[in-house]
Amino acid sequence: MYKVSYEDIVRKIIQEKNLSHEEIEERITKKIQQLNELISKDGAAYIVANELGIKIFDLNKKRYKVNELIIGMTSMEVLVKVVQKYDVIEFKKENRQGKVQSLLVGDETGVIRLVIWDESQLKSIEDVTENNILLIKNGYMKENNGFKEIHLSKYSSVKINPENEFIGDVIISMQKRFQRKKIKDLNVGDNVSIAGTIVQLFEPKFYNACPECNRKINLEGEKYKCDEHGFVKENLNPILNLFFDDGTENIRVVAFRNNVARILGLNNEDVKKLKDDINKFMEIRERILGSQIIINGKANKNEMFDRIEFIADSVEEINVKEEINYLLSNLK
Ligand SMILES: [Zn+2]
Repeated sequence: MYKVSYEDIVRKIIQEKNLSHEEIEERITKKIQQLNELISKDGAAYIVANELGIKIFDLNKKRYKVNELIIGMTSMEVLVKVVQKYDVIEFKKENRQGKVQSLLVGDETGVIRLVIWDESQLKSIEDVTENNILLIKNGYMKENNGFKEIHLSKYSSVKINPENEFIGDVIISMQKRFQRKKIKDLNVGDNVSIAGTIVQLFEPKFYNACPECNRKINLEGEKYKCDEHGFVKENLNPILNLFFDDGTENIRVVAFRNNVARILGLNNEDVKKLKDDINKFMEIRERILGSQIIINGKANKNEMFDRIEFIADSVEEINVKEEINYLLSNLK
């Protein structure tokens, strides 16, 4: 309903701003390049309209609940709580590069992904942690593979834990980004969600990584050097291997960084301490074996061992009510 087409936006800009069609197209193309092609043509058109002070939607309401957000909204305000913060991902195509980070956020009506690629916005949320409340102003809505996402531009603002603003229990529902699959049905390349039990857990391994791009770095003389970022202060990154069983089969799961912490129920600093403390790990292992979780990620072929492995992208706790609904809907 609010999904205004690209043509409509361009028409609206022409009407209100006395610009030629070519000029507008040029601005939009420029905007797409400026944003490292991480944005659709429609999205870029919204931003250009926004920058020109054109309201695509004349909605009086400013603040929305998560389940009220609609693709195409611009300059909207939303108050959310952080459910999960994912790692910064560095991307590189041809001669352009940049960073992108996403967070799972929500309120009493549902959850949604918040996506940030703007450098200054990435900085502004650097210290944000789970359960922080964010007041987002001037965000805009984008569609990605059929899912709604809140995006921030450099014109957006994020206030962390604003005074006198509260959010009740966040409902983790709707927005299932990953389709559920049984382990026995997994194919190489599947980007899905599997739900099961941790049946085996191996001691985490650690590698020295570049704090910028998280790639493995090596000592050069007395300092660590990243091929991309030069000499950097090394970050100790964990890798966790486990076996995961959903009743149909079991699979080896590989988790990195934040996901290791989530699976072990520790913070990142405490994970690092496990490097020299096997006893502590054994203690945690005892507690974690048998726990049931949902792992979202990708089925990869391990060429060396000729087997499918699952690379964790994110980890969720099992919501019992939701699981029952899922099982019931699969009985039909
Ligand atoms: Zn690097």
